[in-house]
Amino acid sequence: MPEYKAPLQDMAFVLGELTDIDGLAALPPFTEVSRDLAEAVLDEAGKLASSVIAPLNADGDRHGVRLQEDGVVAAPGFRDAYQRYVEGGWGSLQFDPEYGGQGLPFSLAVAVQEMWHAANMSWGLCPLLSQGAVEAIAANADESLKARYLPAMVSGAWSGTMNLTEPQAGSDLAAVKARAVPEGDHFRVTGQKIFITWGDHDMADNIVHLVLARLPDAPEGVKGISLFLVPKYLLNEDGSPGERNDCRAISLEHKIGIHASPTCVMSYGDNGGAIGYLVGKPNQGLACMFTMMNNARLTVGLQGVAVAERACQQAREYCRERVQGVAPGQREAGPIVGHPDVRRMLMTMNALTEAGRALAYVGCAEVDRVHGESDPQRRARHQRRLDLLTPLVKGWCTEMAQEVTSLNVQCHGGMGFIEETGAGQLFRDARILPIYEGTNGIQAMDLVGRKTLRDRGTAMFEMLEEMDAFLAEPHLESVLGSERKALLTDAVVAVADATEFLLGASDSATLPGAIAFHYLMLSATVVAAWQMGRAALSVAEDDSPFARRKRHHVHFYLEQILPRYLHHARALRFGDDTLMALPEELL
Ligand SMILES: Cc1cc2nc3c(=O)[nH]c(=O)nc-3n(C[C@H](O)[C@H](O)[C@H](O)COP(=O)(O)OP(=O)(O)OC[C@H]3O[C@@H](n4cnc5c(N)ncnc54)[C@H](O)[C@@H]3O)c2cc1C
Repeated sequence: MPEYKAPLQDMAFVLGELTDIDGLAALPPFTEVSRDLAEAVLDEAGKLASSVIAPLNADGDRHGVRLQEDGVVAAPGFRDAYQRYVEGGWGSLQFDPEYGGQGLPFSLAVAVQEMWHAANMSWGLCPLLSQGAVEAIAANADESLKARYLPAMVSGAWSGTMNLTEPQAGSDLAAVKARAVPEGDHFRVTGQKIFITWGDHDMADNIVHLVLARLPDAPEGVKGISLFLVPKYLLNEDGSPGERNDCRAISLEHKIGIHASPTCVMSYGDNGGAIGYLVGKPNQGLACMFTMMNNARLTVGLQGVAVAERACQQAREYCRERVQGVAPGQREAGPIVGHPDVRRMLMTMNALTEAGRALAYVGCAEVDRVHGESDPQRRARHQRRLDLLTPLVKGWCTEMAQEVTSLNVQCHGGMGFIEETGAGQLFRDARILPIYEGTNGIQAMDLVGRKTLRDRGTAMFEMLEEMDAFLAEPHLESVLGSERKALLTDAVVAVADATEFLLGASDSATLPGAIAFHYLMLSATVVAAWQMGRAALSVAEDDSPFARRKRHHVHFYLEQILPRYLHHARALRFGDDTLMALPEELL
């Protein structure tokens, strides 16, 4: 696999032109922030990603992780790379300076994280989960827990995990059975959790598990779930890790991909109960965990962008080197990049990946605006936009990663199917993305239920208004060309129509669920097109190679990818009749 080179120019472009990182400086937490600062940070991160983390990726895939008597051993080199990451202060970029963070925007941290995941998705999952755990503790825990746990988690010296899933409780967390019984100033947690990412390892000095469990008198269902902080090592008086707590990884899953990310079955309380501390209020654990899950949903979408970028780089290099056949206009056999159909694959990969980056970063920048905005109305609007974009980023970027990593295999021909090229690893690693952190089916239900029907489409119509304003930009037609602009205009109308259709169907028991996935893919395809259109406007006067390439990708997206909206818009109009009519035994 070729070396990973962080796409620094596109990252800086999206941060600068589409998320307006310079504009963040108007908000009190970010007065020092600028595009120049962002570029300097990205540059340094790119070096660590390319030279330290990426070279471990293929070996990690082959070697995997081991469970020994005293715990899980990470893949070769992972621990050293993690130390370099902690020493470089990379874990603390976006966190509160009160706990040792650097107070930088989340959107900048996200661009940096794209590099970790592109370099090595398995490795990047450890910081991803830790970051979500920090967010959940910072937003919900009491001051004493924050003071004891956050500084070491923010620095990365300790990692964090998310423990929701149990064998009978996956998408349906109402079925969680783990228990927590009060005992003095703490609780005793018992139960089994499955599929816990980086649930145990030897890279950090302590692991802070956030565990969903029920109190003895808790009501049934989601209203009876509380959140507990359960450290692997209990803390000494001075705050250092001390005695081992009663929790451990009892087995590791054998997976299709991300072999170097330990996916653990965790047992709590084999010897009387793991000591845990309540985070937030009793029975409100799911709401607290949502702080972590929302953050993680955005960053899982980002993983889709990252692995797609890596696939683009690999495919590009291979197609420029592999000689096969005489391309049109040539006299001799030459590199396959000359064949129109190979160009179709490469352009599709590039356009999807750049659109995904634009969508993901723009979504993540809403986190910064919610955080920094003091005007209540503006803040509420940013929160609505963030809530709306989160399932789009998670759902669409992870779906497009399937297509892009699959096209990478296809670009390699037979060699793509042979493990040693590494195309297979990207394809396998990407496959988890539409599943974890809430399957994409659940994301679609979230978009339809919580994000559209609940507010009667307010957030969606606000966004559509902005798209209409964009379409009214005077130079847009000359920049995009009239046919592409017309296509985009029709696509925006289709989202508005689909939203009305959905709102009209809110009384139906089955229709919202039946059309949810199409509604998600329709909206995200169009929102991504809007962002690509904005990109084209901002490079309109520029003739640099970057700007020319960007323009081509925008045009290609509008011509070849945006028309997919029609498929989703038409399919959802058929509603649920045919879908639901067949008896289950005939399915
Ligand atoms: C590698 C890996 C890492 C993971 N890491 C973690 C982790 O760190 N922490 C953690 O807690 N969990 C983790 N998970 C668990 C993951 O989040 C769940 O697997 C996921 O949420 C789906 O739950 P499930 O596997 O029980 O599938 P199910 O819930 O059984 O779903 C099966 C299918 O039914 C669909 N479905 C289910 N309910 C509905 C519904 N109401 N509407 C529409 N469709 C529905 C789903 O979309 C899916 O297609 C991980 C899983 C894997 C494989």
